[in-house]
Amino acid sequence: MKNIEQNWINSFKKPLIISGPCSAETENQVLETAKKLDKNYIQVFRAGIWKPRTRPNCFEGIGQIGLKWLNKVKKETGFLTATEVANSTHVELALKYDIDIIWIGARSTVNPFTVQEISEALKNTTKIILVKNPINPDLDLWIGALERLMNQGIKKIGVIHRGFSTYKSRKYRNTPNWGLALKFKKLYPNIPMLCDPSHISGNRECLFEVIKQAMSFKYEGLIVETHCNPDKALSDSQQQIRPEQFVEFLKNDFFKKTNSKTEMELEHIRVLISELDQNLIYLLSERMESSEKVAIIKKINNLLVFQPKRWKSLIEEYQTLGQKLCLSEKFLENIFQEIHKESINIQNQIINKI
Ligand code: PEP
Ligand code: MN
Repeated sequence: MKNIEQNWINSFKKPLIISGPCSAETENQVLETAKKLDKNYIQVFRAGIWKPRTRPNCFEGIGQIGLKWLNKVKKETGFLTATEVANSTHVELALKYDIDIIWIGARSTVNPFTVQEISEALKNTTKIILVKNPINPDLDLWIGALERLMNQGIKKIGVIHRGFSTYKSRKYRNTPNWGLALKFKKLYPNIPMLCDPSHISGNRECLFEVIKQAMSFKYEGLIVETHCNPDKALSDSQQQIRPEQFVEFLKNDFFKKTNSKTEMELEHIRVLISELDQNLIYLLSERMESSEKVAIIKKINNLLVFQPKRWKSLIEEYQTLGQKLCLSEKFLENIFQEIHKESINIQNQIINKI
């Protein structure tokens, strides 16, 4: 993919802040939310019109009429507008109603047929198109979506990091992968990257800590869900905050605090280290679950818990791998002694119980 210069971001104050409800629900809700957002800090108003929901029979978006409400927001407040599209009909309508920024959602980015259909419908558009990361951490799939857009002559593009699904639930609704987002940035430094802390955190309590982590990565912008009555929202009610609360945060915290370069660099590395450490904890937990399973098999078949020959050959294999990855022999030995000790304890407990 050509790393074409994405100058469009320079026409915005940086960081670019997009905010508004997960879904447009009523004209009043849309207008009330927009009017409570402050144009000094927020430049674009978002609202979902067609909602990809995990289960059927819940609110799936208000549809075309919501685009009229977005137009009204633009006229009455001066905000630019943004919405998500998931097929060529959505694209046609979004263009007809002159939506300024169009994004492709995480569940569409995973499907090359969908992205191709959307890209063709957008052919040669001068609108800004943002691509959310796919729900699985597949960098090529994300890049592939951008290539499909570029192949259709689309020049103004950007990406949104909104976190990834994990097979076991974790602290956040969609686990961020700061390392992967960084890899993307290194490959394509000229493509603006925004962060979506609302869909990462999945709840109000963690929203601001995710924003702080994101900003240490110098994202070009944020997209944050706000709703005039979040508890009554028809989608993503737990992660939406009141527009006044977001404005207050931007005014008194976000745009006020200027951290030194060293503080920013330190915070950046700390976030990455913490991501890696947490991954280690999840791996250790899975490792011990496997010890529980092996204990049951050993018990049924009357096998010994500790099998010294097997353990010796494993530790030799680990040492060879560790050496290749520049880990000291002593360090690996210590770690695996502890892991092994814990595994034996767990197995003995299970065997003595059944
Ligand atoms: C949204 O922004 O409301 C949305 C559905 O996002 P995602 O594609 O990240 O799930
Ligand atoms: Mn949402």
